[in-house]
Amino acid sequence: MNEQLNQPVTVIKGIGNEMAETLADMRITTVGDLLEYFPYRYEDYRLKDLAEAKHDERITVEGKVHSEPALVYYGKKKNRLSVRLLVGRYLIIITFFNQPYLKQKIIVGETITVTGKWDQHRQTITASHMTSGENAQSQDFEPVYAVKGKMTVPTIRRLIKQAFAKFGQEINEILPAELLQKYKLLNRSDALRMMHFPSGSDEMKQARRRFVYEEFLLFQLKMQSLRKLEREQSPGIAFSYQLSKLKEFVTGLPFPLTGAQKRVVNEILGDMKSPYRMNRLLQGDVGSGKTVVAAIALFAAKTAGYQGALMVPTEILADQHSMSLKQLLEPFGVKTALLTSSVKGKRRRELLESLKNQEIDVLIGTHALIQDEVDFHSLGLVITDEQHRFGVEQRRVLRVKGENPDVLFMTATPIPRTLAITVFGEMDVSVIDEMPAGRKSIETYWARHEMLERVLSFMEKELGKGRQAYVICPLIEESDKLDVQNAIDVHSSLSFFFKDRFQVGLMHGRLPSDEKDQIMKAFSKNEVQVLVSTTVVEVGVNVPNATVMLIYDAERFGLSQLHQLRGRVGRGSDQSYCILLADPKSEVGKERMKIMSETNDGFVLSEKDLELRGPGDFFGKKQSGLPEFKVADMVHDYRALETARNDASLLVQSKAFWQSEKYRSLREYLAESGALANEKLD
Ligand code: ADP
Ligand code: MG
Repeated sequence: MNEQLNQPVTVIKGIGNEMAETLADMRITTVGDLLEYFPYRYEDYRLKDLAEAKHDERITVEGKVHSEPALVYYGKKKNRLSVRLLVGRYLIIITFFNQPYLKQKIIVGETITVTGKWDQHRQTITASHMTSGENAQSQDFEPVYAVKGKMTVPTIRRLIKQAFAKFGQEINEILPAELLQKYKLLNRSDALRMMHFPSGSDEMKQARRRFVYEEFLLFQLKMQSLRKLEREQSPGIAFSYQLSKLKEFVTGLPFPLTGAQKRVVNEILGDMKSPYRMNRLLQGDVGSGKTVVAAIALFAAKTAGYQGALMVPTEILADQHSMSLKQLLEPFGVKTALLTSSVKGKRRRELLESLKNQEIDVLIGTHALIQDEVDFHSLGLVITDEQHRFGVEQRRVLRVKGENPDVLFMTATPIPRTLAITVFGEMDVSVIDEMPAGRKSIETYWARHEMLERVLSFMEKELGKGRQAYVICPLIEESDKLDVQNAIDVHSSLSFFFKDRFQVGLMHGRLPSDEKDQIMKAFSKNEVQVLVSTTVVEVGVNVPNATVMLIYDAERFGLSQLHQLRGRVGRGSDQSYCILLADPKSEVGKERMKIMSETNDGFVLSEKDLELRGPGDFFGKKQSGLPEFKVADMVHDYRALETARNDASLLVQSKAFWQSEKYRSLREYLAESGALANEKLD
């Protein structure tokens, strides 16, 4: 970056040590930081027609003072000034809080202009800003900045103006000219000035557009160059798998692969063949057929002389996966084994021994797989299912067990594209976006609680046909204990309702794990017809005979979670149903129930979920790891995000980006922000 802009803010007149400290609290230390301290909104001083103003909107109006202003003091040092103003045909009330000095400036019969929040119901404006005749506002827009401590908005405005006056001509372009031309973007210096001092809404928009693109491009360049470096510096295994055997295996499957499955298999095989370590996320909706993709990858590893491991979050799932992989793989001479905490004593010792001797090719299990005593002979491929349930640390430990094994993370939680390419920017992402043909889609209905009896008699009819049902209990976020109590209550009332006709089982997270296993087994053997459960049943359980999913208090769940729950049914050949019992109060809640009943597409739902909840909430606050953008918004600007991602990808792959003079300032900018390893610079 330009040396001039790297100087401390104290080079600006009027910024002493004390103010510099306040600025440092706002993360402004250099002149450059100050110039790039963007407003978070603009005060709009264009006059608004009251008839068009929306409730709660910030507006500016001009009117004639209709009454003497009344000043009322209350509390300690607090006061309220109100006055009636005739705006066109409307007589409204203007209120100012804690600006008593305005009283003298408001004179009956004179015209004033005020800016503030419009309360349509009360016909009032809570005003923050007022001008009268002689000092009328000259600009349409004024920037509003977030401030801290002793800093005020007028002061930071003044400082930024001064910074521009002195250093404005030092702002250099960092984006390549061809991209600026391609997207008709403002140059950096103009854009920066217009961000702060737009002459109108067009300048505001153009300036914003430029910085949205810049932020996304820089971010993507950073992620992708890191990924490139990581790849090149982390040699993996170049599997020389036997293609002919692989083809035989695929032809021998009980069904043809879908187009999407073929595509992701090729992406995975490409990674395996390459000398780099695979670090890939495989996304696919429930039932999209991820297991068989995993089986193909594991088979490929075996034909190249390597062992593989599949790690899942629960014992029930380990059991199920072990069964399906055995079926798929053993006819082709691949020896699989299941390792869970219930494999004990002699059997365990023998299993571990044959793993060490490579008599076992594929090991399936829970986190038991990463205990110290488990030694592989030649672990080449690690697959984890439902990766968001594993901690980063667990994945790392598993990796250490092999010589840089390739790693594939599978998840059934559809992550919106926009989040996937930001949060998982350093991973490769494959998506199975197509369901196997002939799948019956689940019918989803939204019912209010008062309809519970009708819902139960519908359920009884299905049970009468020999089918089974899940009942998911109210979710109370604050307390696991209450969740369990709810499940217990629902269990006893349903037991009463179905009396001797059907068996009702109970499942929740506080049960000891052998009891959980027992009840799940009873349900899969149809010894229990109705399974009342908390959300522990969410992950991957497969009971094809279950055709009804009833969810209590569905409005308390996120769309993605509802979709996961719904995915427990519709696994057999019979028509399945999902019933959402909900009395949502908010519009958003109603919207969610409607969307659920309208679509079965997990990706559509996840995009919608993101829209309704916002990116921070999507993963839950703690683990979000989302980047913070100053101007850009991942949800609304997703098109720009995709464009920037493609541009970044082309740049990072080109030699020119790493060598040519015309990308020097871009490289330097990235290097300074810690994104590029310095030794990579020429
Ligand atoms: P998930 O992606 O949820 O793990 P599974 O791998 O369990 O999905 O697959 C769901 C069901 O679909 C399984 O019974 C599987 O055998 C079947 N299946 C997978 N791929 C296909 C396909 N291409 N055609 C038909 N059925 C398939
Ligand atoms: Mg699965």
